[in-house]
Amino acid sequence: MRITVSTQTCVGAGQCVLSAPDVFDQDDDGVVEVLDAEPGAGHAEAVYLARDLCPAGAVTVED
Ligand code: SF4
Repeated sequence: MRITVSTQTCVGAGQCVLSAPDVFDQDDDGVVEVLDAEPGAGHAEAVYLARDLCPAGAVTVED
């Protein structure tokens, strides 16, 4: 899978970090950062949860 995020859309809610802390982080302003854009299959469930919970729809996952 490949993850992309829209830093323009991100509202800093942090749901992605709570769902998948190995994959997402937030900068000092709360804007999402991707730690691992191509995580292994073991992270799939957490990544999809992060995408689904993001209130801004800022997380995109390509299979
Ligand atoms: S959950 Fe969405 S809005 Fe919140 S920090 Fe992550 S990408 Fe940004």
